[in-house]
Amino acid sequence: MYQEIILDHYRHPLGREQLDDFDVEVHHVNPTCGDEIDLRVKLKDGRIVGLSHAGQGCSISQASASVMWDLTHAATVADALALQAEFLELMQAQGKAIGDEDTLGDAVAFTGVAQFPARVKCALLGWMALKDALAKAMEAK
Ligand code: ZN
Repeated sequence: MYQEIILDHYRHPLGREQLDDFDVEVHHVNPTCGDEIDLRVKLKDGRIVGLSHAGQGCSISQASASVMWDLTHAATVADALALQAEFLELMQAQGKAIGDEDTLGDAVAFTGVAQFPARVKCALLGWMALKDALAKAMEAK
């Protein structure tokens, strides 16, 4: 079932129409797998009002970026960072943690990925780009 969620996001990714109007753009790569992401964000009054990403890579990296967009594209910066921290913790638990579906939604589908150290960076790529972009956008304000 979790595999289905990942494949569905991979085939029909959300948030890939790049914004023309944005505060910050970041480019992140995962060299071990060859995944790349360009993420753009726009903030207003401590809230994300624009978020988009483009890039290429394996199904896990692309699906995870799609889930990340779904969960955070209208969130406050504080909530988006809290979710990022929660997902990071889940991915670093080596498959021993159970994600909270109430907060993480489809992101719990990546729980199994956490057992494979080489794939953890794939799942985290979009989320690390988001964290970086939010920090830069806050600085720029
Ligand atoms: Zn990958």
